[in-house]
Amino acid sequence: MNKRDYYEILGVRRGASDKEIKQAYRRLARKHHPDVNPNNKAAEAKFKEITEAHEVLSDSAKRQQYDQFGRQSFGVGHEADQRPGAGPGGFDFSQSNLGGPGGIEDLFSGLFSRRGQEPQTGPSKGEDLHYAIDLDFKDAVRGLSTEISLQRRAPCPSCLGTGAGTGGQFSTCPACGGSGQVRGKLGLFGGHQACSRCRGTGKLPSSLCSSCHGEGMVLKAERIAVKIPPGVENGSNVRVQGKGHAGWVSGPPGDLYIATRVRPHPFFERKGDNIYCEVPITVTEAALGAKIEVPTVDGKASMRIPPETSSGQVFRLRGMGVPHLKGSGRGDQFVTVKIVLPQNLDTQSQELFRELGRLHPEDPRRAIWK
Ligand SMILES: [Zn+2]
Ligand SMILES: [Zn+2]
Repeated sequence: MNKRDYYEILGVRRGASDKEIKQAYRRLARKHHPDVNPNNKAAEAKFKEITEAHEVLSDSAKRQQYDQFGRQSFGVGHEADQRPGAGPGGFDFSQSNLGGPGGIEDLFSGLFSRRGQEPQTGPSKGEDLHYAIDLDFKDAVRGLSTEISLQRRAPCPSCLGTGAGTGGQFSTCPACGGSGQVRGKLGLFGGHQACSRCRGTGKLPSSLCSSCHGEGMVLKAERIAVKIPPGVENGSNVRVQGKGHAGWVSGPPGDLYIATRVRPHPFFERKGDNIYCEVPITVTEAALGAKIEVPTVDGKASMRIPPETSSGQVFRLRGMGVPHLKGSGRGDQFVTVKIVLPQNLDTQSQELFRELGRLHPEDPRRAIWK
């Protein structure tokens, strides 16, 4: 199957606005729709192709994913492509979908009456970038400085972001006559808005830069140092200011958001900013009291077991939990003790327990029958 670029399929440049993509799709969809071309396999294939391209490019999240990782990121492998009607994300473009609801009238009325996003014009902030990072339990508690690799849209180094080809020649934008402004949708009452053709600059490059095809932006691989603050949990979002995609027409860059995914710990469990764990103690420690060492996220801590401690009793280690992400201080650690009996009791030990039983004949279940 043809693996053409989605932008190429729709005949738009990579930086095309939502409106331009919609218009291109509309034009092509009208021409190649199977209802207009009955029994025309080529038109049907073409229609599927443009629908697939539009499906991805009209959705800002999917478009960003496509820009960054290409077609593979949608799980559309070579094999999968052979299935009839298979598109990105399992979207079904089969013929049966085109009649009835979702037919050509529906398609056009639904799609084009919807208020789309305004075209990207004038200086504007770059798009935010999203990234996910996997963290160990302790790194989430203590914080982590690390580096991540990602691809950001950056001003094209060949044309310095202007989109112009060799020589950097510009001509006046015919859409706005060089003012960079056009009348709004409501004519006289709509005021002015930035021209979408030249993005409000008033001029268009005479020839397009061959590196970025006139977009003024290229994808650039980058390693970015990030600081994960102490206390993040599963699903926290860490913002790294200014590390998203570059802005349009020298607008500020977007931000980078790092979603944290925390691996569970075999011993500690976290609820909010408190940490829970279970620690075994011996019968002797439980009966006579003891000073034991328990693990914490900071290493070993000493904990006092008072005499006559029962299994299941919970002790609090104040301030040994997770640092509060907002504000100062930390949660607590709660330690549940569990009495473990010596195994393979010899006759002497058995006799000692019998002796203990004689000294303490009280029934611990007495309260249950009351
Ligand atoms: Zn360029
Ligand atoms: Zn213009």
